[in-house]
Amino acid sequence: MKPFVALLSLAVASPLVACWSSSMGGETPYGESKPRPNIVVVMVDDLGWQDTSLALHIELTHLNRRYHTPNVERLAARGMRFTNAYAAAPVCTPTRASLITGRSPGRNHITYWTFMKDRDTSASYPGVRAPAWNMNGVQEGDTTLPRLLQGAGYRTIHVGKAHFGAIETSGADPRRLGFDVNIAGHGPGAPGSYYGEHGFRSGERTGKGGPSAWDVPGLDAYHGEDIYLTEALALEAAKAVREAVAAERPFFLNFAPYAVHTPIMANDRYLERYADLHEREAAYATMVESVDTALGDLLDLFDEIGVADNTIVIYTGDNGGLSAHGRGGEAHTHNSPLRSGKGSAYEGGVRVPQVIAWPGVTDRPTSTDEPVITYDLFPTILEWADVEVPPEHEPSLDGVSLAALVRDETALEPRPLYWHQPHFWGVNGPGIWPFTSVRDGDWKLVFRHSDRGFELYNLASDLGERRDLARTHPERVAQLAAEMDEWFERTDAQPSIDIESNEAIGLPSEFVPQ
Ligand code: CA
Repeated sequence: MKPFVALLSLAVASPLVACWSSSMGGETPYGESKPRPNIVVVMVDDLGWQDTSLALHIELTHLNRRYHTPNVERLAARGMRFTNAYAAAPVCTPTRASLITGRSPGRNHITYWTFMKDRDTSASYPGVRAPAWNMNGVQEGDTTLPRLLQGAGYRTIHVGKAHFGAIETSGADPRRLGFDVNIAGHGPGAPGSYYGEHGFRSGERTGKGGPSAWDVPGLDAYHGEDIYLTEALALEAAKAVREAVAAERPFFLNFAPYAVHTPIMANDRYLERYADLHEREAAYATMVESVDTALGDLLDLFDEIGVADNTIVIYTGDNGGLSAHGRGGEAHTHNSPLRSGKGSAYEGGVRVPQVIAWPGVTDRPTSTDEPVITYDLFPTILEWADVEVPPEHEPSLDGVSLAALVRDETALEPRPLYWHQPHFWGVNGPGIWPFTSVRDGDWKLVFRHSDRGFELYNLASDLGERRDLARTHPERVAQLAAEMDEWFERTDAQPSIDIESNEAIGLPSEFVPQ
């Protein structure tokens, strides 16, 4: 098979583009007359693995039947669905930073969510504390995906929740990270309110008045209107896309609705459908549906303005669904059959829905169970855009391109995936403690930093991570702990600090029972 980089070479239209070898010849999958593809990432906040009506487990679950997301189904009908897609982290900023840097949270030292400049948001936990992590997040001057695309002639558009870097640092402003356009993005990772009547402000929602760090910036035209935040973001995204197309520029759109993050606030337009649910769960379901409508509006727009045939769409999430607090019903069950949720080392904390639709390539529905992770999207998108990774940045990339997998279901090289959160999220629940974990094939090892204990699960036979096999499979524990050691050394990831000794806790293999 010809390498995909060669297939794209004729698609290069601009001298600004650092192209792959044009001497390699071949046909572009877009057709010789088509420009470089537009690329859209729909990064839904806190979207649980089962929070769509699309089947991602072996069959439709009761949660799939609860939610109404016809536009995700529409995307999957002409795309690839990923049943083993992972967020890079169980909370927001580390995953979002991974998307735009191509690096894992451990390597970035952006292992937790950012807020105020130089402020550690970690909650305290018995025995260990967070290392000196990057509390300010991605900063101006860092090599980023939008910056590289911008340099190649793309109009780069951010819409919605940014949360790439802390307030009062350059990372709070997407325009300083390579986005030409920023609509409503800033440092904080939640909106003051979802309601236009509230001006999207916290003080209006709570009735306390006054400004707040959480107030959504830049949507003044909608203040006082009967409009839901996700709807306003979709309208503004459409304007920015139309402008890019009118300017004859390919566009990269990072559509990152604040939904479905807290505060959980109903979009009344959809409530009737969920009348049988617990009030909080009904409100949550309307948030999910609001995002789906926004996705549908974007797909309709691409059809209307004639760019659908050349626009690749990725739908994904930044961490598992909220379940430890703030939801209706029993805690830690909202991502069933997965265990736990946002903030957790278990699958409920990191597994997310993902669909990629690539016009002219994925014209029939396909599905893959290949484990993939957020930072794979960085090399994937650059390959689609025909933009080279800068040689100085390339050695630090942690992901692989998914282009061949999406194009013709070419299997990925087997590889372990790692998660690393040397922080406590502050809410008690299964797997919510400082940890490092690895998935290698069907096996998953979790290393608890506080007591240096291990848990081993076989995801093929025990997706819900109920049967800890660490005692009965000591050789597997030792093997995966050794892989973790190698990963720590390769990425320079930071272990938790032992509070008593004030020293790093050491590498996982040191604690494997002999
Ligand atoms: Ca999130």
